Amino acid sequence: MASYEQIFDNNRKWVAEMTAKDANFFEKLARDQNPDYLYIGCSDSRVPANEIMGLEPGDVFVHRNVANLVNNTDLNVMSVINYAVKHLSVKHIIVCGHYNCGGVKAAMMPKDMGLLNPWLRTIRDVYRMHYDELDAIKDEHKRYSRLVELNVLEQATNVIKTASVQQCYLQNKYPIVHGWVFDLHTGILIDLNINFEKILKEIQKIYDLTGGMAAPSE
Ligand SMILES: [Zn+2]
Repeated sequence: MASYEQIFDNNRKWVAEMTAKDANFFEKLARDQNPDYLYIGCSDSRVPANEIMGLEPGDVFVHRNVANLVNNTDLNVMSVINYAVKHLSVKHIIVCGHYNCGGVKAAMMPKDMGLLNPWLRTIRDVYRMHYDELDAIKDEHKRYSRLVELNVLEQATNVIKTASVQQCYLQNKYPIVHGWVFDLHTGILIDLNINFEKILKEIQKIYDLTGGMAAPSE
């Protein structure tokens, strides 16, 4: 019980600290949110979104699930993306994976994981899509790390497949979609430098959802 009670002590200290820095902090916080970033990351307790980015409350809209997946039929993540793009007008969408991800590790094991099977299937599909590259990596840990990166790339691509992102980008030149990996051993965020424009162009050969929309004239 001690640690549970501790949380409320921590909270009161945090309120005091924030108010000491800015007496109007909570008044401003309650007014509205206007974040520039949507962060889609893993639920892993070691990867706290705001802290690793050094951002304050109000700066980033956050969605987290096991292994940072962006599934087409997941009403939760789809609603988050839609709301962030259409109503919050975020300028950047970040898919952030992390090395040593338990979800990715589980997907690499040839095993029935019960209820987790359909969730892990998405990561196994990423493995299948990149089988040749992954199979050529003999060191298992390196293969695991590469799958983490490829999973980020594929989930970022899934974000780009959504109508809200494609349509908003055509009209406004934002949001830009990014793929990052967090390294637990060093605390460093690594930008995979995915080529957003190139992926958008490629996937729109099949997934173009801007049909009939004109880009605004310059
Ligand atoms: Zn994870």
